[in-house]
Amino acid sequence: MLLHLKSSSSREMEKQEERGRKLLLVPCPFQGHINPMLQLASVLHSKGFSITIAHTQFDPPNPSAHPAFDFISIPDTFLEQQTSPENMIDLVLLLNAKCQEPFKKFLAQMINRQDPSHPQFACIIYDEVMYFSPAIANHFKLPSIMFRTSSATTFLVRAVIPKLHLQGCLPLPDSILQDPVPEHYPLRFKDLPVVKFGSEEQILRLMANLFNTERSSAIIFNTMDCLEQSSLAMIQHQKQLPIFRIGPMHKLAPNSTSSLLEEDTSCIAWLDKQAQNSVIYISLGSIASMDSKEVEEMAWGLANSKQPFLWVIRSSQKIASEWIESFTKDFKNSVGERGCIVRWAPQKKVLAHDAVGGFWTHCGWNSTLESICEGVPMICRPCYGDQNVTARYVSQVWKVGWQYENELKRGVIEKIVQRLMVEEEGKEMRKRARDLKHMVEASIDKDGPSRNSLNEFVEFITSS
Ligand code: UDP
Repeated sequence: MLLHLKSSSSREMEKQEERGRKLLLVPCPFQGHINPMLQLASVLHSKGFSITIAHTQFDPPNPSAHPAFDFISIPDTFLEQQTSPENMIDLVLLLNAKCQEPFKKFLAQMINRQDPSHPQFACIIYDEVMYFSPAIANHFKLPSIMFRTSSATTFLVRAVIPKLHLQGCLPLPDSILQDPVPEHYPLRFKDLPVVKFGSEEQILRLMANLFNTERSSAIIFNTMDCLEQSSLAMIQHQKQLPIFRIGPMHKLAPNSTSSLLEEDTSCIAWLDKQAQNSVIYISLGSIASMDSKEVEEMAWGLANSKQPFLWVIRSSQKIASEWIESFTKDFKNSVGERGCIVRWAPQKKVLAHDAVGGFWTHCGWNSTLESICEGVPMICRPCYGDQNVTARYVSQVWKVGWQYENELKRGVIEKIVQRLMVEEEGKEMRKRARDLKHMVEASIDKDGPSRNSLNEFVEFITSS
């Protein structure tokens, strides 16, 4: 009898242990969100966890790129629209509404199975944007952990927006745009992540949902103290939750690939032929775009700068794409082999290439981290939301780039590209970028703060 009791309790312990190693991750189906979530999944898998990814039918990740993970598709979550800044809020609200019930049913099935070969999950790690998750996790008494894929500073300053609404200051009046935001130096009101699209009611509803961490047990940030120490300290002070800063995620999981578009690797052979630090790389990430006038100014600014350039113009950037296809003979003659245009680049490889000496970026958080990690200085051209905050930090706090603020004009583009790529000021900027790269690298050293935070996180989920 004693023997029997002992073996059933040890079986129970094994089950418990197995459960403690099984994680359910809920990514948001946008490129800039899927990448860090799948990187986090790889990092946790390397720590011995088994990973299940619950994804939408809209822009799903590619399971064959991650044979070690289980993938489950949340039913009825296919959306027909393409992602654009204009419909972002609609999409996020719709996704959350669509996911809620099917996700709940799925979890109920898993839990009702009571099958030891399908142990329950230790916790759910959800992208902050998939805010339907914590209530459902809570319903099944599972802990949920928020993963914030963008900067800690944007997370912090978003709190200013509902206050501005209460004061009747939204939309922001022109008279205050250049003023500093109290307690958030060096941000100006114009840098706040105010989304211009969607109704005020929708924006505030979204903000309220994103802020709500009441049901979460912890927050993970893809960042580092060396970049955002004071913002992280303020968040820690405001939120009574464990905060883990585990970044840069793409360096902790260097082999993770989760591109939704096919990468055109031919640009690497083209880069191989260029001189060291001579190429300016231009990309606006997966959603932002330029209008036809801006593309034309950009094209001629680059041509006149006489610098080699690698430019990503996605096929979903319809206007830009059409303009490029109808490039004039003059432009083609002027650029010759000096320019390379692709639909989608292997960006991390591009930024790590010796030939790349500058990055014209929209300052998406992943692009910014990827640039910092390779010591590539930036020209910041933010388009919306958190990109404005990041651009301000790149130019004013870390001082590894300049922000281009006014209307795009070919003459100004030509000058700013030359300033970064060939002039003395650009060389100094590149030196600062190298120094920052070394600081960031130190975070993921064996005893670096990001590694330590990762180990603390592993301890946190296995012991809670
Ligand atoms: N990216 C890429 N190839 C490209 C352009 C972008 O692989 O041609 C990747 C880039 O490396 C980054 C992600 O797409 O990981 C974009 O995320 P980010 O946060 O920079 O911007 P978003 O697309 O969310 O605006």
